[in-house]
Amino acid sequence: MRYVIVGGSIAGLACAGRIRELDSTSDVLILSEEARPYSKMALPSLLAGEMKSDNIWLDVPADVQFRGLENAVRIEPGKHIVTTLKDQEIAYDRLLIASGAGASLPDFEGSDCSSIFTIRNMSDILGIQKKMKTAKKHKVIISGAGLVSMEMGDAFLKQGFKPIYLVSSQKILSQILDEGGSDFLKQYLPAKGAEFHFGQSIKSVHESDVGIVVETVSGNNFEGDFLVVGKGAVPNTGYLAASGIALDDGVLVDEYLKTSHEDLFAAGDVCQAFDMMHNEKRVNALWPVAIEQGRHAAMNMTCYHDPYQGSISRNVVTIFGTVVFAAGLSRSTDLESYHRQSSNRYAGIMLKDGRLAGAVFINVRIDPGCYLLAMQSRTEIAHLKDVLLSGSLSYVHLHPFLTASRIF
Ligand SMILES: Cc1cc2nc3c(=O)[nH]c(=O)nc-3n(C[C@H](O)[C@H](O)[C@H](O)COP(=O)(O)OP(=O)(O)OC[C@H]3O[C@@H](n4cnc5c(N)ncnc54)[C@H](O)[C@@H]3O)c2cc1C
Repeated sequence: MRYVIVGGSIAGLACAGRIRELDSTSDVLILSEEARPYSKMALPSLLAGEMKSDNIWLDVPADVQFRGLENAVRIEPGKHIVTTLKDQEIAYDRLLIASGAGASLPDFEGSDCSSIFTIRNMSDILGIQKKMKTAKKHKVIISGAGLVSMEMGDAFLKQGFKPIYLVSSQKILSQILDEGGSDFLKQYLPAKGAEFHFGQSIKSVHESDVGIVVETVSGNNFEGDFLVVGKGAVPNTGYLAASGIALDDGVLVDEYLKTSHEDLFAAGDVCQAFDMMHNEKRVNALWPVAIEQGRHAAMNMTCYHDPYQGSISRNVVTIFGTVVFAAGLSRSTDLESYHRQSSNRYAGIMLKDGRLAGAVFINVRIDPGCYLLAMQSRTEIAHLKDVLLSGSLSYVHLHPFLTASRIF
């Protein structure tokens, strides 16, 4: 049996490691566009100087063959063959698509200039670090206020560069926060050293010896050393176009993480699988989800018929000294929701049919595992509304409602 994995990052490595645990004799081969695996999640810490580059590398599991700088350019499911950029045809018995996502860069005048960066790979960080060495203004323009943009802004500030955010909407972290949480950050974060300008979409970028000028559609100009564009990620599916594999926002999979074709599975940021809270298939581009799915796909690739329950979107991030937790249907506006706020804290919970469906906590110390378990187990919990909002939900509260059959 030969297992081939396309994509040598965390989903691919998690799958390879689990296959090795379950099957010690078959061949496991990883094809990777990048030379060596590393933690993309740690890139902001690397930029901030909080992590040494030696610590960012990930290990390839023992007895797994890793071929770096070897892209898959085509998969032919009927023939069970994957073709690489070096025009080599590799036969597989089971294959995992774990090619992740790439950064999206909107088209605007000057978008190809050398002072514009996206954030996805190590090469992006190396390019930015080089630029920072010759910077004159010590100001970075950041387009977008999503998770990665916020983490990067925090890293720039730690390196003595002022982050200036241009946000097309009126919200911070609009993909994961409810209105109240986003409004709270709008009030709270400017005092921490970042500058925010809302309703600003980029029209053009002009580069000179002393930096860049970003002009927005509403006619404002912003000056900085360079521009970082954080406008989300797009699953890497281009090489699958002629394969016939069913695609939507990502590679569509069933409850066994199997694609529309036999012996072909998917996991991680490229994969559109069931989301437990949204009750639909979604791409949940998150590190722990990539691990879960990679390991789970391995079970089904090696013949254990084990359905995947689905993921729950969840983020815990510290930005500008502010701890943000958001999970489940945290942006929903049509659920029963409750909020609590003080000058430096915010809590919001969302209930559906008396069950916890979403939560947002900013600077509130919580046990994230308990909140996730409450969502996952669909425990009727409306009577614990005050406990939920205070952030003090514990396993003691959940224990009476949970039985093994309801969780596992
Ligand atoms: C800056 C940053 C910060 C983040 N912070 C967090 C966080 O705080 N919390 C969190 O949960 N998640 C975070 N994430 C998201 C997390 O890193 C991803 O969910 C995770 O890396 C997904 O893993 P993956 O293996 O599916 O894909 P990826 O890590 O995207 O890796 C896919 C790999 O496949 C390769 N590849 C692509 N096409 C091909 C091909 N045709 N052939 C061969 N190889 C190919 C790519 O080059 C890449 O090496 C962050 C991401 C970034 C970029």
